[in-house]
Amino acid sequence: MTLTPVKIPLVVKKMFPNYIWDIATNEKIIYLTFDDGPTPDITNWILDTLKTYNAKATFFCIGNNVEKYPELFRNIIKNGHAIGNHTQNHVKGWKTKTDDYLSEVAQAEEHIQKEKPQPHSSTFKAAKLFRPPYGKITTQQANALMKLGYKIIMWDVLSIDWNRNISEDTCFKNAISKTKNGSIIVFHDSVKASKNMQATLPKVLKYFTDQGFVFKSIAL
Ligand SMILES: [Zn+2]
Repeated sequence: MTLTPVKIPLVVKKMFPNYIWDIATNEKIIYLTFDDGPTPDITNWILDTLKTYNAKATFFCIGNNVEKYPELFRNIIKNGHAIGNHTQNHVKGWKTKTDDYLSEVAQAEEHIQKEKPQPHSSTFKAAKLFRPPYGKITTQQANALMKLGYKIIMWDVLSIDWNRNISEDTCFKNAISKTKNGSIIVFHDSVKASKNMQATLPKVLKYFTDQGFVFKSIAL
């Protein structure tokens, strides 16, 4: 099974009902997510771009990048966005033993918590959010993480921004064509995805803002 279609089929969502694929709502809300950062220049560019639309988002950070760029990480929090765990080294669940996978998540969590402001801060969202790299996680790994209090956040819309073989126009169409109230859209704050992401994100923000949508961070 592959998780790379732009829109996740209903059958996949039904197979994994304990994962969060979208957030049911009648309101015009979209949940933008950014994986694989923080990354120098790119993450700050996203923060500035989001700010111009008063948009909030969720950043699934790689622990190793949090460790390398703590100031960038703190900027995300300062700007009022939510943070999620994306493992320490971006490991593939299907190829990693459960104990090793849990230790990857724990390592990333340690760096995230170290940089986190004191509790009761109005800006930091305390919910433990986790997104498996590549969308690949075994049931055993997911169950263990859920027991530790993590919510497994998947998505219902992929922009496929990381693929340099698709045009900026296709990336934009990917991001808007199937998006609905409560959709979770995936972008990346990585070097690889930056060309398509930087071309697409401002257009997505404008397109949906013009239709009365707001962009919120995931708070469960
Ligand atoms: Zn990733």
